[in-house]
Amino acid sequence: MTQFSTTDHKMMARALQLAEQGLYSTMPNPRVGCIVVQDNEGTPEIVGEGWHIRAGEAHAEIHALKEACSRAKGATVYVTLEPCSHYGRTPPCAEALAEAGVKRVVAAMLDPNPQVAGRGMERLQQAGIQVEHGLMQQQARALNAGFIKRMETGKPFVRCKLAMSLDGRTAMASGESQWITGPEARSDVQRMRARSCAVMTGSGTIQLDDAALTVRPHQLGMTDPSLAAEKQPLRVVLDSALEISPQAKILQQPENTLLITAHPEEYRIKAMRALGAEVLTCPGEMDRVDLVSVMELLGRRECNEVLLECGATLAGAALDAGLVDELVVYMAPVLMGSNARPLLELPLTHMAGKVELEITDMRAIGRDWRITARPRDAHS
Ligand SMILES: [Zn+2]
Repeated sequence: MTQFSTTDHKMMARALQLAEQGLYSTMPNPRVGCIVVQDNEGTPEIVGEGWHIRAGEAHAEIHALKEACSRAKGATVYVTLEPCSHYGRTPPCAEALAEAGVKRVVAAMLDPNPQVAGRGMERLQQAGIQVEHGLMQQQARALNAGFIKRMETGKPFVRCKLAMSLDGRTAMASGESQWITGPEARSDVQRMRARSCAVMTGSGTIQLDDAALTVRPHQLGMTDPSLAAEKQPLRVVLDSALEISPQAKILQQPENTLLITAHPEEYRIKAMRALGAEVLTCPGEMDRVDLVSVMELLGRRECNEVLLECGATLAGAALDAGLVDELVVYMAPVLMGSNARPLLELPLTHMAGKVELEITDMRAIGRDWRITARPRDAHS
């Protein structure tokens, strides 16, 4: 295990900060940051910085090398992901780093694609460059949890967002519900939508809330929301009999809308397609949509992160199927009483069936609290 210095940590932290600039725009590519550091008589000096902005365009390393220009020679390069070694839409970064004559490359993590992991580092080593990896790996993995999961399993990282009262209820027994969380929590949900490749819900939630599930960039709290505005996530509605109303808000901008159904009448499919929505069939047991097939399908469509914004039934089914990687629960300071509906439809009868969670973060968001947890058996 390599021992990294304080300077190494500081520099990688800066590279991670740069990578995060791409949070809303690099999909389906990973968010990557890179810095080029020259030793200035014992004092490290950053001579080049870069981050990947969008797919099809230059990678982080190329931006950083360009800024460093001739000062890249003999420099140390910090990059949050192993440099690529294959010819994709852009030439390989490993070649560019070798050509620039850098001395040392430190990567936070290896490429998560098992078929190419280590190749970039190998190529650099062949060019006589000193290579190391694993510095701040945990932070680097967290930034690209979706990309990593898709590369390793073919399925997206699923984040399930729920809102509840302090007594764990979400709606009255009648189904009557309304926003129980404050405006800050709602902006926070906007940021989660914006970083996701797809936002998914069930037809029941569409019927109740008539949500459009779009990203409203001005609500993201960014100084420049233009990058987030470029990409609206794919909106996915699971609707086993395809009974969604043609008047639903989500169908008023049908582009980028995918309806997944199980056993629809042919005329309903035709009607939805005529409105401009895409309709696919993924039949499962008991006339329901098969959730595992849906996730595989979204993985094939290069969806890294999927945000599940749905009711208790779909959330419970997804959790039960082992498809939820992270639960994000907003807790509002209200009590809704014992007749109100539960957070998840998860009819457990024995303690042995309980779902064990690990709370990874808990913080105040305005007047609400946000709890982030992951099922203990989730892919990490
Ligand atoms: Zn590259």
